[in-house]
Amino acid sequence: MTDSLPLPAHHWPTLHPGWVWLCGAGPGDPGLLTLHALNALRQADVVVYDALVEPAILQWAPGASHVYAGKRGGKPSARQRDISLQLVDMARKGQRVLRLKGGDPFVFGRGGEEAQTLVQHGVPIRIIPGISAGIGGLAYAGIPVTHRDVNQSVTFVTGHDQSGNTPQSLDWASISRGSQVIVIYMGMKHIAQIAAALLAAGRPPSEPMAIVTTATTATQKVLETTLATCVADIDAAQMEPPAIICIGRSVLMRQTLDWQSMAAGHPPRHLDPLGRGRPAESA
Ligand code: SAH
Repeated sequence: MTDSLPLPAHHWPTLHPGWVWLCGAGPGDPGLLTLHALNALRQADVVVYDALVEPAILQWAPGASHVYAGKRGGKPSARQRDISLQLVDMARKGQRVLRLKGGDPFVFGRGGEEAQTLVQHGVPIRIIPGISAGIGGLAYAGIPVTHRDVNQSVTFVTGHDQSGNTPQSLDWASISRGSQVIVIYMGMKHIAQIAAALLAAGRPPSEPMAIVTTATTATQKVLETTLATCVADIDAAQMEPPAIICIGRSVLMRQTLDWQSMAAGHPPRHLDPLGRGRPAESA
């Protein structure tokens, strides 16, 4: 797609001067943007973007100025308020503001806080959801976040709180007991602590686990491991954030569904990794 190509026929909303659109950019691969995001990129005067937004995406807003507002790793967020107020300022100057955030703006992205500040200051907003790393990133690794034979629920958790520590408010024992599949954002820094807490609460040491770093980008890496061995394996494989972590038997499905390896010519490792012994579609 080039800039000269029109969007498909639809009543696309107009980004008016003085408005801020908070928009998800997806986990990386620019093709995972929504059409609303593309529509926004083509109208914005200014794009305020985060660290995890793929630079290639900004090229789709060639007419806009690009303002970096990133922070990484759960550091104290003194700047969060500055970012929100900067957005208010830009809107009040009559700019068409696109606030572009990694993944989905309302999933561990502080989109809610920014939106709230904007509303409190009387700035009109629109929210454009995006594909969250905990769903789309796992899909690019061949892991279905729900799979009928594995889970009827999924728990999304963050491994950081605002001060960069493992969230004290999280009851890891309850999560361990009540979650069929656990998807952890920002979990790398405290993975040893998290794995220990889950094991202590009774999750099996052999429980399958996957770490997907820079998911959906050209540098995506996937590590398959277990709860008991993850810390050593992450170290040995030199896995670096950003990473999405999945704990649960759905990780086994990757043995069948690793579509990127298959596209590269490798056969599937297993056709029935959950040992159902019957066709996948039978009731
Ligand atoms: N709003 C984002 C999440 C922001 S929190 C979303 O919906 O995806 C940042 C965390 O998201 C990272 O620490 C990492 O855990 C995860 N993440 C975002 N992009 C990722 C990617 N491309 N690969 C792996 N993890 C990613």
